[in-house]
Amino acid sequence: MKIDRVCVECNSTETKMGEFKGYGALFKKKAVITNSPVDACFCLNCGYILFLKVRNPENFI
Ligand SMILES: [Zn+2]
Repeated sequence: MKIDRVCVECNSTETKMGEFKGYGALFKKKAVITNSPVDACFCLNCGYILFLKVRNPENFI
């Protein structure tokens, strides 16, 4: 599955996925345990983050 993503800052199509985990995970408000890693897609050329995505949104329902 290859989706063409173009950086809005430098028009590069070289993007990579990364993730925020551990202390960088997104936590549910006032919850200590409920959290989810957050995937980030960023531009390899300039570092601009194209989008962030919560991996387990169902955890927050
Ligand atoms: Zn860029």
